Amino acid sequence: MSRASTPGAAPTPTIITIDVEEWFHGHNYLASVPLSMWDSQVLRVEKGTRACLDLLDRHGVKATFFVLGWTAERFPDLVREIARRGHEVGCHSHAHPEVFHLTRDEFRADAERALAALSRAGIERPEGYRAPSFSLTPPVHHYLCELQDLGFRYDCSLFPVRHPRYGQPRSPRTPFRLGPGADGLVVIPMPTWRCAGVNLPFSGGGYLRLLPWPAFVFLREQARRQGVPAIVYLHPWEMDDFRPHAKLSPWQRLRSQGQQDTMPVKLERILAEGGFTTLGEHARRLGAGANLPVRRPVPGVGLA
Ligand SMILES: [Zn+2]
Repeated sequence: MSRASTPGAAPTPTIITIDVEEWFHGHNYLASVPLSMWDSQVLRVEKGTRACLDLLDRHGVKATFFVLGWTAERFPDLVREIARRGHEVGCHSHAHPEVFHLTRDEFRADAERALAALSRAGIERPEGYRAPSFSLTPPVHHYLCELQDLGFRYDCSLFPVRHPRYGQPRSPRTPFRLGPGADGLVVIPMPTWRCAGVNLPFSGGGYLRLLPWPAFVFLREQARRQGVPAIVYLHPWEMDDFRPHAKLSPWQRLRSQGQQDTMPVKLERILAEGGFTTLGEHARRLGAGANLPVRRPVPGVGLA
């Protein structure tokens, strides 16, 4: 039975998102593999992305692929293949910077460069943006205005959890529209379960790999009861058996490589379920509703 996307069907759908980048783009590798060394590394993104595409095809599920401009420049045919196989292509920046280190002009320039690279790969107007490592944190929330100005329709960069680098536990947990206008950018935070005043993550990357399956299912169900859809996120390198020997601290190694072999198994189990949509379809449905709250970014502070 096909379990293809079901736009607009369920208020809490499952949404598969894949950040299309190389293994060394993760910030845990930044110290040992700086940007100047990227082009001399083993490139694995094609293999992991094709593993994702084949698995999605087997289950008839359409997903959202947030592609790095750097990747689109080197593998334009891969980007075309993602689109040809019926998936949504969004933007994941150009060179995977931590946004909170950028000026507003630098952020815009990076996004423009990514859009140009995606355009050369045949993706003219991606609707969605996801910041590298969810690094669009409160001091730079006003950069969301740049995304709207560049023509994006939605953003999925806010992760309202405690985290030593990208944490923003007091940010909104539920979608909103960027004010003050009536047709502003739809902002969709990453899913959490709020329990005893704490927002708990579960839906992707290291969280999904390191959580036992029953714990993931439990957290996802609790979040659903709070009206939060499961926006799963993963990377091509998490579908790959390649294990780089870069210098990492034990904590970095756990975050980057811990239980990596469980990701294909867990993704397969998730895909065997129903109720999928793409993030773009979900954003359109949210945007068409009348009840989306409006929030206004305050430069250097966050969202009012
Ligand atoms: Zn990334």
